[in-house]
Amino acid sequence: ASAASLALTLTACGQNSEGGSEEDKGSSKGATVGIAMPTKSSERWIADGNNVVQNLKAKGFKTKLVFGEDEPDQQVSQIENMITQGVDALIVAAIDNKSLNNVLQQAADADIPVISYDRLILGTENVDYYASFDNEKVGELQGTYIVEKLGLKDGGEKGPFNLELFAGSNDDNNTRYFFQGAMNVLQPYIDKKQLVVKSGQTELTQVTTLRWDGATAQRRMDDILTKSYKSGRVDAVLSPYDGISIGIISALKSDGYGSKDKPLPVVTGQDAEVASVKSIIDDQQSMTVYKDTRELAKVATNMVDALLNDKKPETNDTKTYDNGAKVVPAYLLEPVAVDKANYQAEVVDSGYIKESDLK
Ligand code: BGC
Repeated sequence: ASAASLALTLTACGQNSEGGSEEDKGSSKGATVGIAMPTKSSERWIADGNNVVQNLKAKGFKTKLVFGEDEPDQQVSQIENMITQGVDALIVAAIDNKSLNNVLQQAADADIPVISYDRLILGTENVDYYASFDNEKVGELQGTYIVEKLGLKDGGEKGPFNLELFAGSNDDNNTRYFFQGAMNVLQPYIDKKQLVVKSGQTELTQVTTLRWDGATAQRRMDDILTKSYKSGRVDAVLSPYDGISIGIISALKSDGYGSKDKPLPVVTGQDAEVASVKSIIDDQQSMTVYKDTRELAKVATNMVDALLNDKKPETNDTKTYDNGAKVVPAYLLEPVAVDKANYQAEVVDSGYIKESDLK
C-alpha cells in the first residue's frame, strides 16, 4: 500500500542479511508487516512474535504485532484493524483455522499477501504461502519415542502395555497431522495388542483438547484413571504439547504415580517449553519435540521480503498442504526429539533456552 514513501528508509541499508546489493531493491523498504499470533498463554508464541518482529526490522520493515487471547473473534477483528491501518503484508498463526475466510478476503481485496504461520489456514485461496515444520514428523517422533522406550521396537512379543492418547485443539489444522504421524507408528502395535488403549478412546474426535488447554487435559486424564484404571497401570501417554503434558502428569501424580512402586508412564510433549525441559531433567515428562521457532521466524520473514519485492519465496514442499481451496506452497523445517540425553546439546547449547532458566 504505502510503497511510494519507502525509498526514504535509508536507515535500513546495510542491515540486510542477504548482502549489499539488496539494499536498493526499492519497493519494500519501510513497508509495514502485520503479525497476528494466537495467544500469550504459551511461551513459544511470545517468542515467535518477538523473533518475527526482530527479523523483519533487521530487513528494514515496520511491524505491528498482535496476540489474540485464544479467541477466534478477537483475532478476526485484530486482523481487520491491521488491514484498515494499511499493512502491506500479513503473517498469521490462526487460532481457529476456518474463522479467517472473510477477513482474508478483505486482505486479498486490498492486495495484501498472507503467510500462514505454523498453522495452515483452511478453506480460502487467500493464503499465499505456508511456513511451518514437518508436522506429521512431529507426531512420528512422539510415537517412535513411546515404542522405543517400551522396548517394542526391537520386535518380539513384548507387552501388552497400556497407552492413552491425547491430541491438540480440533480447530488447529496441525492437530490431525501430529496425531496421524503418531498413529502411523503406534497403530501397528495397537493392532497386534502389544499396546492397549484401555479407555477405548482411539479416534481423533475422542481425544482432542480444545485450545490446547492443560487443565482440560488434566480433567480428561483424571477421568480416564478413575474409569479405566481401577486395575492395571498406564505405561505411556501420547501428549501432543508440553502444556498438555504438564496437565497429564499432574493428574497421574494425584493418582499416586511418580513413586518407586508406581513410576510415571512415558509421556511425550512438544515445544521444549522451559517448564517441560525442567520436568524432563527431573525425570517426570519423558521427551518433547523441539522446533526451533527462531528458524521459523526467519522463513516467514524471507517469504514476506520476497513477496514485497516481487520475488518468489523459497519453498521445499508444494504438495502436502491442501487447505481445501488450494495446495499452499510451504517451507517446512525439521523437528527434533529431545529428552534428558540430548536437551543440553539441542536446546541449551543452541541458545534456545538459557541454562540459568533451567535452574
Ligand atoms: C503448534 C505447536 C503448539 C500448539 C499449541 C500448534 O499449532 O504447532 O507447536 O504446541 O499449537 O500452541
